[in-house]
Amino acid sequence: MTEPDVTHDDDRWLARAVALAVRNVADGGGPFGAVVVRDGAEVATGVNRVTRDLDPTAHAEVMAIRAACRVLGTHSLAGTVLYSSCEPCPLCLTAGLWARVDRIVFAADRHDAAAAGFDDRAFYGLLEQDRDTWPNPVIARRIAVAGDPFTAWKAAEERTPY
Ligand SMILES: [Zn+2]
Repeated sequence: MTEPDVTHDDDRWLARAVALAVRNVADGGGPFGAVVVRDGAEVATGVNRVTRDLDPTAHAEVMAIRAACRVLGTHSLAGTVLYSSCEPCPLCLTAGLWARVDRIVFAADRHDAAAAGFDDRAFYGLLEQDRDTWPNPVIARRIAVAGDPFTAWKAAEERTPY
């Protein structure tokens, strides 16, 4: 069995994501678009809605993942590809991993985003530094009940693993 030539399809879906991103700027949103594709067909799209929804997590990829899950009626996007107009930020990269997408494909990169004033590259840089050096402290305080939610989870007879 030979590997399928996906180059052309990838470029086509990336162009779709980029077009969504450009149109979103005209609509008053951020310059980011994303598409979730399964078996060569579009499942759902997303555009950046941070300022319009007053939601700092309303990134294009997150919006596309949420929409695709609603369309497919599942919390797992295994078997899909996430296309993004720009390299996913750490939030969206991890969202894609949580969604279990098969692949993530992007067009512009974190350096393009940084040149336009977005923090993607800065956040990737932070993740490579000791948290003690971060301007916004992340503090672990292991209070006595810290493990209780996981004890409850493991004891729950009806639970949906994910
Ligand atoms: Zn993002």
